[in-house]
Amino acid sequence: MIVILLGPPGVGKGTQGKLLCERNGLHHLSTGDLLRAARREGTSLGKEAQAFMDAGKLVPDEVILGMVAEKLTELGDTGVVFDGFPRTVAQAEGLKNLLVKLGRQVDRVVVLSAADDILVKRIAGRRSCPDCGMIFNVYFNPPPADGCGDCDLSQLTHRADDQEETVVTRLEVYRRQTAPLIDFYETSEAEVRHVDGDQSVEAVQGALQAALG
Ligand code: AMP
Repeated sequence: MIVILLGPPGVGKGTQGKLLCERNGLHHLSTGDLLRAARREGTSLGKEAQAFMDAGKLVPDEVILGMVAEKLTELGDTGVVFDGFPRTVAQAEGLKNLLVKLGRQVDRVVVLSAADDILVKRIAGRRSCPDCGMIFNVYFNPPPADGCGDCDLSQLTHRADDQEETVVTRLEVYRRQTAPLIDFYETSEAEVRHVDGDQSVEAVQGALQAALG
C-alpha cells in the first residue's frame, strides 16, 4: 500500500505518519527526515539542501525525486507512508512515473488540516529528540519529565526552520505550491480522504486508520 499524507507544516504528519507505520507495518518515508539526516552526515545532498531548508523554501524537485527514487527502489514491495512528499505538482508527476516503473501506485491520499493559528503554535512549540526522533510539543504534547527513554530532556531540539519567522514562509509555500496537489489527486485514480488534524493524537490516528480502511 502507498499512502500520501498531505497537509501544511505542523498539522501532525510526522507524529501521525510514524504511528500509522508502527501500527500497520508500513515504512515512514519523510523527505524532511531524509534531508535532515543528509545534513547531519554532511553529504553533498545535505549541503545542497541546507540553504533552502533554513529559509523555509522547497529543495529543488530533481534533488527530491532522485532521493525518493533511490529510497523506493531500496524498499522493494514494502508499504510506504509518504510524509512531506510530494510537495509540488512536478514531484507528484515524477512520483507517478516512478511508481509506473516499479509496478506500483498511490492507493490513498489523506489530507490533514487545521487552522493557521493552531499550526503556528504547533510548529513553534515543537521539540524533537535527535536520537529516537520522537516529537513533542510544549503546548499540546509535553515531553515526559524523565525524557523519552534513552534521551534526556536537555537533548530535545528545536528545529532552525521551526522559528516563528520561518513558519510564515513555510505556510505560504504550502498554500502556493503544495495545496494544489489536493485537486491533482482528486482528479486521479487515488482515493482522497480528509481528516481534521485539530484533535488529540489518538483521535486523529483513529480517523486516519479509518481513512485507510
Ligand atoms: P518537513 O520536515 O517535511 O517540514 O521538511 C523540512 C524542510 O525540508 C522543508 O521546509 C523543505 O525545505 C525541505 N523539504 C522536505 N521535503 C521536501 C519536498 N518534498 N520538496 C522540497 N523540499 C522539501
